[in-house]
Amino acid sequence: MSSNESHTVGIVGAGLVGCLAALAFANEGFKVELFESRPDLRDPDQQVLSQLRSINLAVSARGITALRSVDEEMADRVLKDLVPMHGRMVHDLNGKQICQKYGLYGECINSINRSLLNRSLLDELDKLDNVKVTFNHKLIRLDNLKRSSSDNLENAANSEVVRGHFVGTKTNESLTVENVNVWIGADGSYSQVRSQIQRALQMNFSQEYIDHYYLELRIPAKNETAKSSHFDSTCPEAVEVGTEAKFALNPNHLHIWPRHEYMLIALANSDGSFTCTLFAPKSLFDKELAISASDADVVSFFRTNFPSAIELMGDDLLLESFRKNPRGSLVCVKCSPYNVGGKAIIIGDAAHSMVPFYGQGMNCGFEDVRTLMAILKKHEFDFETGFNEYTETRRKDLGAIVDLSMRNYQEMRHDVTSTAYLLRKSVDGFLSRVMGDFWLPLYTMVSFRADIPYSRAVQERQWQNDILTWVIRASVGTSLLAGTALWHGRLFNTLSSLYSRLTR
Ligand SMILES: Cc1cc2nc3c(=O)[nH]c(=O)nc-3n(C[C@H](O)[C@H](O)[C@H](O)COP(=O)(O)OP(=O)(O)OC[C@H]3O[C@@H](n4cnc5c(N)ncnc54)[C@H](O)[C@@H]3O)c2cc1C
Repeated sequence: MSSNESHTVGIVGAGLVGCLAALAFANEGFKVELFESRPDLRDPDQQVLSQLRSINLAVSARGITALRSVDEEMADRVLKDLVPMHGRMVHDLNGKQICQKYGLYGECINSINRSLLNRSLLDELDKLDNVKVTFNHKLIRLDNLKRSSSDNLENAANSEVVRGHFVGTKTNESLTVENVNVWIGADGSYSQVRSQIQRALQMNFSQEYIDHYYLELRIPAKNETAKSSHFDSTCPEAVEVGTEAKFALNPNHLHIWPRHEYMLIALANSDGSFTCTLFAPKSLFDKELAISASDADVVSFFRTNFPSAIELMGDDLLLESFRKNPRGSLVCVKCSPYNVGGKAIIIGDAAHSMVPFYGQGMNCGFEDVRTLMAILKKHEFDFETGFNEYTETRRKDLGAIVDLSMRNYQEMRHDVTSTAYLLRKSVDGFLSRVMGDFWLPLYTMVSFRADIPYSRAVQERQWQNDILTWVIRASVGTSLLAGTALWHGRLFNTLSSLYSRLTR
């Protein structure tokens, strides 16, 4: 038996990040106990519920690299339903669609249904003998986090046991877990493990709700009830054979209806439907989009602002989703440190909740798992040294992506429609083509380059921004000078011909 096999890792939260962490530790030979407060989402009753709210996620390089770092074949299996998206498709009020490619060389992000991905990861866990998943159990408390101990593998057996106290969410019975050597908190934005760590040490912590909510809507597959089709294939390399028959919109794009203060987005599902999300200020959800608004007013709002989307959705489906689906809040969480010695650590949304506008929440959480495992392996699973190093080295990257995500909301709902933004984007692309790896657009560094840490991407962008501003000013200045010179030239010619006519 290897030393890892005699140790048990307790993971709280069987969401996306908790499941990947469980797979990663199990593959290293640890016994894994995974606890989840909700029922198994593969149960038939739960599946109906999860289909009602089917958030789609954009999975990109960091997420895919992290999945592959755990197990290449598992990654292929869980990612089999990806729908590639090569760019944004911006819809204006008149129904015109403009394609803005994400990468210069055909790179793509990928749409996947969150609940489908979570179910696939749980299926993978079922295949492993050293993983036990306990559903319907909510963590209430972790004991003994405060006292310091050295927790490397050699003396972990002698260290103080951190007991986990759970309550059965169906039975209300208490469960105390005493056999766990180290706890991983992957229990989301409102993490109980984080609260327990906060009681044990001085954690810097900030939480901010943005003044916008989101609401999920749906465009059905064409063979379902879609009213019509706005399939645009102006980015030909992005369109896959046969898609036009199934999808009402081009599936290989992330569709955006930007309306400055709010926006609607749509991501394709492999069944031909699109999951749409409306992001809008709270004030709008309090008035025009209040739950008490009449059907006629709701339909009128959507027909005025998103006519081309509503045509595909149909009034009935719009109203059904509008009435049934909850309004979701959006929260940012930053904190540090993430660990208490070698006893407990938080990853995923528990450590860094971010608004979804860069499509990085899950990708970053998966990258947490890859980063943590690499550090732990380097230190031969000396948890105290590994966890401390993780906190020290990961902090700046997590802060960077939380801030970047917040800034991207403005870009998606407003900037994508402005000429200045499009000019900047094309100069950015041009410089990248000319300079190759020396100049990578920010989106490329964040979404397509898992080897570039978030904080470095932000640093690179700062000097690039200065140069971009200078190049654009210089080009505009030169064009103005050239225009003025041309104008002066024409004026001179006109005056001299007038003079010669008068003096003839
Ligand atoms: C509208 C929207 C769109 C998004 N789009 C994207 C995107 O395109 N790309 C992307 O990368 N990310 C996206 N995200 C973010 C992504 O959904 C999250 O970052 C990701 O789901 C976080 O996973 P997690 O496992 O850390 O947390 P969660 O998914 O929140 O999972 C935590 C789990 O812990 C369980 N739990 C909580 N408390 C306890 C407890 N006390 N005891 C036991 N179990 C507990 C919960 O039931 C849950 O199952 C989006 C988010 C939103 C809201």
